[in-house]
Amino acid sequence: MDAPTVNSLEAFWMGFTNNRAFKADPRLLARAKDMHYYTTDGRPVLDAVAGLWCVNAGHARPKIVEAIARQAGELDFAPTFNLGHPLVFELASRLRGVLPAGIDHVFFCNSGSEAVDSALKIALAYQRAVGEGTRTRFIGRERGYHGVGFGGISVGGMVANRRTFGALLPGVDHMRHTHGSSPPFTRGQGETGAELADDLERLVGLHGAETIAAVIVEPVAGSTGVLVPPKGYLERLRQIATRHGILVIFDEVITGFGRLGAATGAEYFGVTPDLQCLAKGITNASVPMGAVAAGAHVYDAVVNGAPAGIELFHGYTYSGHPLAAAAGLATLEVYAEEALFARAASLAPYWEDAVHSLKGAPHVIDIRNLGLVGAVELAPREGAPGARAAEVFHRCFERGVLVRYTGETIALSPPLIIDKGQIDEVAGTLGEVIAKVG
Ligand code: PLP
Repeated sequence: MDAPTVNSLEAFWMGFTNNRAFKADPRLLARAKDMHYYTTDGRPVLDAVAGLWCVNAGHARPKIVEAIARQAGELDFAPTFNLGHPLVFELASRLRGVLPAGIDHVFFCNSGSEAVDSALKIALAYQRAVGEGTRTRFIGRERGYHGVGFGGISVGGMVANRRTFGALLPGVDHMRHTHGSSPPFTRGQGETGAELADDLERLVGLHGAETIAAVIVEPVAGSTGVLVPPKGYLERLRQIATRHGILVIFDEVITGFGRLGAATGAEYFGVTPDLQCLAKGITNASVPMGAVAAGAHVYDAVVNGAPAGIELFHGYTYSGHPLAAAAGLATLEVYAEEALFARAASLAPYWEDAVHSLKGAPHVIDIRNLGLVGAVELAPREGAPGARAAEVFHRCFERGVLVRYTGETIALSPPLIIDKGQIDEVAGTLGEVIAKVG
């Protein structure tokens, strides 16, 4: 065995990565500022994906950096079981200003995956609290991504993420995804396909409403290639769920905090869920944090309706960590001071035109967009699924633009501080690279 070296790439087992390929040809980032990463050899890379859909206010914003540094020296850690610290209460209260009316309690965790598993557990606790303890089933959706916990992969619909792991939550069923309900190159939401929401009605018929606790969807499915819901779909899903006493969980880990040009997907679509999963942009990704935002009726049933004592046997050591709370508060201030959600809304038409300018480029079979999200889907290479998109990612990185690939799709989700010149640079580089890949 080789002697371990301090700079060996071998010891770190990377997630969702081809470890052997990466370690043979690594891409290492050393620092970041505003719209750019800088590689270890000092090359700037324009960040067209906000890190991983999360650095919505841009990188290393001074206000957030200072808040974290100050907090680390002031109160490095405090438990939130039977104790508290003021910042976490303040953050929960301030988040009310961002969440839809009626969603007014916040349970903190540390990631999107934890937010999803927490929301599923809260849904079960709610149904029990209102005397509906037979409701233990969840309904997810094909091509959904809800993180990597056992709950999340069970309700999710990304086949590779489920296949290896065997034992998933029992009783889960899935609605069909909405992809393809509108013609390729549809801008924004499509006009057709709202009736796909009737899958929930069909599953109620199959299993009985009295067995179903909640339905969970991403308002816009991100990780499986940016699937924009058709007009009327989420509204219809909400109506069916309400009719049958089923809670609606919106997984807003990507769509939260301005991505669509509104505070949340719920606000953008005008559809209020019972529970919302948040993470990523909640702290501008500067300190890990996730959250479940709950409707007043859910909190009331689970907490105020319970006998004296602990109401919910669930929580994490780092729930509401002081550094994350400080980062979250500073992040909300940056979003508000710079009106970044409105900025995303005002840039969205320019973004849409830029992304759709790639229509007609070789291999491009579909383009989708909403808010500051874009997706360029490429035809698969024969016998090598995903290879063309992977090559586009690598070549763009070499050319100084960070994009993301998932399956055959190039996904784009820049920080909301992007300017028009940088939007042109993203679309221009992508177009040139796509024209060159075989
Ligand atoms: N839910 C959605 C919709 C996501 O997009 C993600 C991550 O991309 C997650 C959950 C999981 O979040 P995390 O990676 O922080 O666990």
